[in-house]
Amino acid sequence: MPLPIQLYVHVPFCEKKCHYCDFASWELPAVQQRRWTEIILKELAARAPMAQGRPVDTVFFGGGTPSLLATEFLERILAEIRSLYDLSRMREMSIECNPSSLKKDKLDLYHRLGFTRMSIGIQSFHADELTRLGRVHTPETARLALETVGADGRFQFSGDLIFGVPGQTEAAFLASLAALLEYDTDHVSFYGLTIEDGTEFAKQQASGALIMPEDGIYNGMYTAGVELLRSRGYERYEVSNFSKPGRPSLHNQGYWNGVEYLAFGPGAHSFFSGIRAVSPRSFEGYLEWGARGFDDASCVREELTVENLFSEAVLLGLRQADGVDLDRIRGLGYVFPPEVLAKWEKVGMLAREGRVIRLIDEGWLFLDEISSDLLARANPAATVPS
Ligand code: SF4
Repeated sequence: MPLPIQLYVHVPFCEKKCHYCDFASWELPAVQQRRWTEIILKELAARAPMAQGRPVDTVFFGGGTPSLLATEFLERILAEIRSLYDLSRMREMSIECNPSSLKKDKLDLYHRLGFTRMSIGIQSFHADELTRLGRVHTPETARLALETVGADGRFQFSGDLIFGVPGQTEAAFLASLAALLEYDTDHVSFYGLTIEDGTEFAKQQASGALIMPEDGIYNGMYTAGVELLRSRGYERYEVSNFSKPGRPSLHNQGYWNGVEYLAFGPGAHSFFSGIRAVSPRSFEGYLEWGARGFDDASCVREELTVENLFSEAVLLGLRQADGVDLDRIRGLGYVFPPEVLAKWEKVGMLAREGRVIRLIDEGWLFLDEISSDLLARANPAATVPS
């Protein structure tokens, strides 16, 4: 049976650029949606032969703000996907939504088009934090969107939150998390704020107007958030992602587990036949690239070596509750010296069960340090007896 693949469509439109955001997304006039759609349709057709004979088992519309996309364009894109790709083994179709553009009529449309899951960018239930982040919605809008989706009952849904916002207290973050859980959401993602180059926050930080919280505060919020979710029956299946049992994001799990995927749109990352490729990131650059026929030479392309595959297996495995399979690592030609594993086990951050290692307890806060240490100190398997 041919292995399934995944599809990702990047919808680069937003009502307003958030202060922390460095995604390929822009405040573009509605007229640009038509130009973007025409190129996406061509890109779907141009790449369809790559997927021949392979079923697609997850589709994800991300952004940007896919819920801003006009009905006509979303319908045309879905029709093209259905006509060109094999969706007979579909397990999950997701769409990212902003609370301010998520209305009841949208739910009927999404259901009719086959979407099964929504990821809603809530970020906070505090008006001052939303303003600070540059979000367009209010706490009331977020509540209304969650009520609407929850009452509708046809979709699994997830809420995103941000912690580590300057001025935010741990109590304020936990209040936002508790507010989200009132809606019995299937899934929660929470991310620590990071400052990315070129963003409004980077400018504010450079001018001294934005001071980030210290690591201790940041770690305290993460740990308290994990505890609250655990007490409500959510499982941490990835460092920033939590779900009710059996309700993880299948699409994101595919990324972390090496499933091949084709991605469409400006700055979209694909992984196929051992090559990672990124399409042109600027809006006009993407449209021009499409008009020229989607040549590979204009993409950033990286062929994955065994060394890259090893690094990815460690980095992506450790960030998941399932951990890293040591036999897979050995299969790629590497082993970890026992003393390196023992060092992290002794301090209660890493556990080993059979041929799997995984982070535990405080180890989740030291994901970067532990993965760097394992990568730096791994040995070629050929030098170590089995
Ligand atoms: S809504 Fe999302 S993609 Fe759009 S600017 Fe804000 S963070 Fe970025």
